[in-house]
Amino acid sequence: MIDNLKQIFKFLDNAYNAQGIVCVLEEVFPLNAIYIYDQTTDSLRDFSKSWMFIKSKELTEIFENFGSEKYVASKTKSYYALYNNEKIIGMLEFSEKLHSKLLEFLELCGFCISLKIQNIILTERMQKNIDFHDSMKNIAKIIETQYETNYIIPIIGEMIDKFVSDHLVYIFINNELVWPTSCKDEKIFELIKCLNNKSEYILTPDKKIGLFPMISENKLLGCIVTKSTDNILSEKEIEYLEQLSNQSATTLNRANVYAEILKHATLDALTGFYNRRQLEERIKQEVSSAKRQHRNLCAIMTDIDYFKKVNDTYGHAAGDLVLKTVSREIKNQLRDYDIAGRYGGEEFVILLPFTKIQEAQMVAERLRNAVESKRIELADKQYINVTISLGVCEYKGEDNFTENADKALYKAKETGRNRVVVYESNM
Ligand code: GH3
Ligand code: MG
Ligand code: MG
Repeated sequence: MIDNLKQIFKFLDNAYNAQGIVCVLEEVFPLNAIYIYDQTTDSLRDFSKSWMFIKSKELTEIFENFGSEKYVASKTKSYYALYNNEKIIGMLEFSEKLHSKLLEFLELCGFCISLKIQNIILTERMQKNIDFHDSMKNIAKIIETQYETNYIIPIIGEMIDKFVSDHLVYIFINNELVWPTSCKDEKIFELIKCLNNKSEYILTPDKKIGLFPMISENKLLGCIVTKSTDNILSEKEIEYLEQLSNQSATTLNRANVYAEILKHATLDALTGFYNRRQLEERIKQEVSSAKRQHRNLCAIMTDIDYFKKVNDTYGHAAGDLVLKTVSREIKNQLRDYDIAGRYGGEEFVILLPFTKIQEAQMVAERLRNAVESKRIELADKQYINVTISLGVCEYKGEDNFTENADKALYKAKETGRNRVVVYESNM
């Protein structure tokens, strides 16, 4: 008996997780489970099965009714209470009644078992804290290095998923669900509408749904939502989610600022088309992939006819409005993957990937027609119409193939304007 006891102490000493303890105890006892009371969730949980929640009323009653007797037995099972400082912390469940020898044994090592279990729980908590700080550090790293919202959001989502057990996690940006792809709970959509840029986190009265707003520089950017599938949020998890939503807000704000800067650097402010520099870049890219993949590529160069006259007659502001309207008319006629850039003052280049010259000519004709038929309203109910001339060419392996569109455009101007001319090699 003493030898056995020594051995069990030694093994217990070496156990470093729940499974380890189960293995040691199973050697000696007909052990079924180890139930431990969890203060943070005010519930009995199965320590031996990854902290599974115990729904059984019967078990809870047995646990709550332990008094001066440490051991109770029913027909099929028996239970032994685990104490720490006179306080019950949990109980062992056995698949049968224990005979007196084993009970005596338990009396001797029960305290040691309690202590070891508490030790492991503390270590696990500490590990969770370490993981928590690691994940905060990770988020900080993302803040430093990532500017793409599309990249950041799944990382945040997965990080929360990892830490908040028994909860579904959703991320909303501007009241729209962005992670994961679906959320069937209408109540969540209602709740997020209540948030503003001063909101603190919100828990529903049943504590099943948590909303953690992401606010940065006084702007409400979105919100992290948790929905319980079982257990309610612990205080630690709430603290974690609050910190994480703050960190995420900073990250997302930065990503938005970066996207704005990028937009300014690449797009022309008046027309929303690519600026000249970016256009040159896109021409290079499109030419190289057309070459590599042996696919068709066409270009249209277009210029507004007699535009100087518009400026001279109606003023520069009216000229700007005309430019804006014409570019919008052009944009409306294009496919998503067509590329439009502002080449110079009122000259635009349009790249048409996957397009043969006959189709490009038809597109150009469509653009010409759309601009010609657009009545442009200036100030004071004045209306004007403008026309454009267009030159079209096809990529055939030349270095500066868009120059050919320019040559065709020149021809269109020369031969009367408001027309489409396709490049020919003798131009
Ligand atoms: P053409 O039919 O030969 O093209 O005649 P045009 O008068 O349009 O001649 P051109 O294309 O050379 O004229 C360009 C004019 O466009 C000159 C300039 O005042 C005007 N312009 C260029 N950029 C802008 C702009 O951003 N806003 C305004 N309002 N006008 C611009
Ligand atoms: Mg012009
Ligand atoms: Mg011009």
